[in-house]
Amino acid sequence: MTKIDPVIAPGASIGILGGGQLGRMLAMAAASLGYKCHIYEPQSECPAKEVAGRFTCAAFEDEAALDAFAKSVDVITYEFENVPAATAQFLAARRPVRPGVESLAASQDRLVEKRFLQSLGLPTAPFLPVEDGGSLARAVAQLGRPAILKSRRNGYDGKGQATIREGSDVGAVFRSLGFPSSIVEGKVNFVREASVIAARGLDGSFAAYDLCENRHENHILAKTIVPAQAAPETAARAIEMTRVLADALSYVGVIGVEFFITLEKGRDGQMEEQLCVNEFAPRVHNSGHWTQDGATTSQFEQHIRAICGLPLGATTRLGDILMENLIGHEADGWASILGNPEARLHLYGKGEARAGRKMGHVTYVNQKPCA
Ligand code: AMP
Repeated sequence: MTKIDPVIAPGASIGILGGGQLGRMLAMAAASLGYKCHIYEPQSECPAKEVAGRFTCAAFEDEAALDAFAKSVDVITYEFENVPAATAQFLAARRPVRPGVESLAASQDRLVEKRFLQSLGLPTAPFLPVEDGGSLARAVAQLGRPAILKSRRNGYDGKGQATIREGSDVGAVFRSLGFPSSIVEGKVNFVREASVIAARGLDGSFAAYDLCENRHENHILAKTIVPAQAAPETAARAIEMTRVLADALSYVGVIGVEFFITLEKGRDGQMEEQLCVNEFAPRVHNSGHWTQDGATTSQFEQHIRAICGLPLGATTRLGDILMENLIGHEADGWASILGNPEARLHLYGKGEARAGRKMGHVTYVNQKPCA
């Protein structure tokens, strides 16, 4: 007989691994639905602890602290994918961990992730594994230049990445990253970057938001525009690919899948849009922040609904969207942003505005021209 997972009802406690802004916004959404949250984070100061009832500051390897954390909650989720898989496994033996350990493990190693996407028939950039200078030189000779070297683990916002151009000294590029176990990818000549934010429920139900278009500056997301400038068939294919991925992972929660859109010559000689998956994040995603103000159900509420076994909410978009990240000192402009009564400002309560640090975001619904 199939086992039916019980619903985790409002009033229960949700454990969140990681105390950053995503954990903070998840905890706020959980509170709106009547749940309590317990944040587990190795750093003593963090955005999420300010808005949650319980906070544990301990290492991800501290089994006594993890055991106590698991005992205090009904379900566990995570707000970033670099939680060690061993930590998630330890917790999964005690409480449901959603999304599951497999989703976490598949997304935290770029080689495993790319091979998994390929095994599902989802297109990716051409890639090869790299272990040393010799294999890097051979891979670059095969893929051509420019190529992008990426460390297999712990890369985000362009960290642990370097471009190998015509004339670059391959060995020097590898040294600059500290010789990590890596992959090298052929550079995709994309016209746009896009993402799908979607959720899969405990019962296998699936709901996606409209395709988002993402603009990066210095490898960090600067703006999200929705709907993306793309043919409706392209958007539908991206959503279908996300569904294939989520089903294959028996995924539960919100997933973010990043795509490159390229223009290729079709059989009839006309240029047509093609998609290639860059990577996926087994969590709520920066390019889905607009859903707080611009969709019927925010991605944060959707994630809480999914991991608690509640029905998914509607993903209807409420207008044309522009979401701008506030990076570093851009957040100092909060007063002028609030001068526009339609601007929806979200600040993460981080003390120090370091360069490249995500301090907040602002969403405009039917407000700003989407250039
Ligand atoms: P990632 O950390 O893999 O998301 O990469 C960060 C950014 O680098 C992406 O959003 C792209 O702008 C760029 N990038 C990464 N991989 C490639 C690629 N294979 N071809 C072209 N641009 C890439």
